[in-house]
Amino acid sequence: MITSIVKKVKKKYNVDIDVTLTDRSVILKGEMSDWKDIVDVGKMFVDKKSNRRVVNDIVLKGYVPSKEYLPDIRDDSLQDTRWNVVVIGAGIIGCSVARELSQLNASVLVVEKHSDVAHGASGANDGMVHAGIDLKGKSLKLHYVVRGNAMYGKVCEQLGVDFRRDGQYVIFKDRLMRFLAKSMLVRARKHNIPSVTIIGKEMARLEPAVASYCKGALRIGSTGAVSPYKLTIAYAENACTNGVKFSFDTAVQSMVRVGRRVTAVVTNRGTLFADVVINCAGVFADKVAEMAQDRYFSIHPRKGTDLLLDKNAPDLPQHAISLSPTLKGMRANKNTKGGGIVITVDGNVLLGPDAIETPEREDVSTTQQSVDNVFNKQKLCFPPLQKSSVIAYFSGVRASTYEEDFIIERSGEVDNLIHVAGIQSPGLTAAPAIALDVKEMAVSALKDSGVDVTYKQNWQPVRKPPVCIRQLDRQTQQKYISQNPDYGTIVCRCEEVSLGEIKDAVNNNLGVATVDGVKRRVRAGMGRCQGGFCMPVVMKTIAQCKKTDISQVRKGDIGSNLCYGEIKDKYRREE
Ligand SMILES: Cc1cc2nc3c(=O)[nH]c(=O)nc-3n(C[C@H](O)[C@H](O)[C@H](O)COP(=O)(O)OP(=O)(O)OC[C@H]3O[C@@H](n4cnc5c(N)ncnc54)[C@H](O)[C@@H]3O)c2cc1C
Repeated sequence: MITSIVKKVKKKYNVDIDVTLTDRSVILKGEMSDWKDIVDVGKMFVDKKSNRRVVNDIVLKGYVPSKEYLPDIRDDSLQDTRWNVVVIGAGIIGCSVARELSQLNASVLVVEKHSDVAHGASGANDGMVHAGIDLKGKSLKLHYVVRGNAMYGKVCEQLGVDFRRDGQYVIFKDRLMRFLAKSMLVRARKHNIPSVTIIGKEMARLEPAVASYCKGALRIGSTGAVSPYKLTIAYAENACTNGVKFSFDTAVQSMVRVGRRVTAVVTNRGTLFADVVINCAGVFADKVAEMAQDRYFSIHPRKGTDLLLDKNAPDLPQHAISLSPTLKGMRANKNTKGGGIVITVDGNVLLGPDAIETPEREDVSTTQQSVDNVFNKQKLCFPPLQKSSVIAYFSGVRASTYEEDFIIERSGEVDNLIHVAGIQSPGLTAAPAIALDVKEMAVSALKDSGVDVTYKQNWQPVRKPPVCIRQLDRQTQQKYISQNPDYGTIVCRCEEVSLGEIKDAVNNNLGVATVDGVKRRVRAGMGRCQGGFCMPVVMKTIAQCKKTDISQVRKGDIGSNLCYGEIKDKYRREE
């Protein structure tokens, strides 16, 4: 079989590929001049019937990869520390796993190379809690998405995070698509996906702007919306309340492996020791696996761009909608749900994302082409959309494996290593369910390492939601303001965020005190002016709360200091 694929590659791309087979992988080597072709070749070697995963080491001719982000800090704050479990990566996966692990009487450390949680894909996604209707066949993705979706109501209630289950509508332009929709109903039943129905004229009543072309729609009632970074923060804060430690600006740079065990984890903040290591490193999961000499899969990054619209813009859709792909489109783009129009939990309309294969793991720049493509595509779905309503755009990078499925397992080669890798979309949806199983894997790995595992009697699963003045009625607002007048001083006018909320955000238990950290926690700077008015006050508040000089206040990561000091103060001092 492999020989025939090699021949096919030669015929199609006129290149010779070296193929090595191991028990766990098919390893490809060679050189090609187009990245998309390299990804396509990798996919040609996927054999879902065997357990072998594709490791694609074909290099892109003339391409020099960008330097990976590493925090510009070196100290020994973690030197010689010992932990039962070390989790690498503080995205939604690392943080939800940490929260589940916080039930154990065990020392748990999460290391994250950026200065806050949710810096990777978990901070740059659509926040849609998918139903899994697009997933065919047997896969871990399907298993965890259906389970994860069902857990959302309870998890968000426990963690004090807003969650809405308003459903989603896939609109057909063509009556023939109703037949396809019927097969979706069958699939939904088979996969235990609840509340899927076909609707007709009702769609045009719900969204009059689609009436001219809509021939019906598939309603997926279990689709929901959540703020991906607020959920990640909530998971992390709850884990922290229950004893998990977080070390930010901490990159895992190598590991020491002796026999079948990782014996030490080397970071820029010292070498530490762990009974069990959990790899939740997103687009770097294969690199982390390599550090443990356990690379048996490859991640091929897939970038997606989203456009955020002003809440107050005219003629906005009221529901999460997307156009049903045509059969041709489905065949051409099997690995994305095709994007759509999402109503975020905060009430903004979000358009996107697209799906672009890229060799760059950390390139979250936005291109005019992607912005235009996403906008034009969604305008076909909802014609009144106006480009002037776009207030921000952002990109995130999905961590796809060639098999396009999640890898959630204890390593077959390294006894104390667990991989939670290839968690591409819809990994946010799947996270609560993944975390439960990974905790069980960690418990068995701890037991195998001779650690006596017991559960905390006083584990606290509930996190009090932060005060959000704009969501309160007048009477409750007055109550809060009388207790703390800072809740009566509005700093971010676009999003109506008070000084009190900003102070609460700065004093979070994770110790994150950056402008972006405040923005994500309370939305100061997320409105139409994008922080133009409130940023100086946010900076001053951080400096005051942390008793530091304003020149030390950062936007986000190390080195992103925003100013050299206050000009007025300087002149005042000189006077
Ligand atoms: C554009 C886009 C839209 C999406 N939309 C949806 C959606 O609507 N619904 C949905 O369910 N899913 C969606 N997803 C998928 C979802 O965002 C991901 O599945 C999920 O965020 C993956 O989480 P993670 O924790 O595995 O990865 P990440 O969030 O990327 O976290 C990995 C972390 O590991 C850290 N790290 C890496 N290497 C190291 C190291 N050596 N040392 C220390 N730290 C390290 C990184 O800095 C990063 O913070 C979308 C993804 C994208 C890109």
